Amino acid sequence: MNRLYCPFCGARELEEFRFHKTLAEPAANAYEEVYARTNRPAVSVEHWQHILGCRAWLLVRRNPSADTVLEVRLVAGGDGHLPSEESPHDRA
Ligand SMILES: [Zn+2]
Repeated sequence: MNRLYCPFCGARELEEFRFHKTLAEPAANAYEEVYARTNRPAVSVEHWQHILGCRAWLLVRRNPSADTVLEVRLVAGGDGHLPSEESPHDRA
């Protein structure tokens, strides 16, 4: 994966983005979540931010084994904050 598609800016080099974290895919049941995990999942769901561009947060679904991007969705844009993030300055 050398490039990532930003919904605002188009396809950009990966160096323009910052990886934030991998989100856990919900398991079908508790047994699978605890005992049937794989080290190389077929689908990885990740948060990326376009830090050298529009600063939009992206939800990227990709296959790490095949190194292919399956889907890119916009999570938030412009203000540089995820909707679930709350900074101490937001509290009044
Ligand atoms: Zn962008």
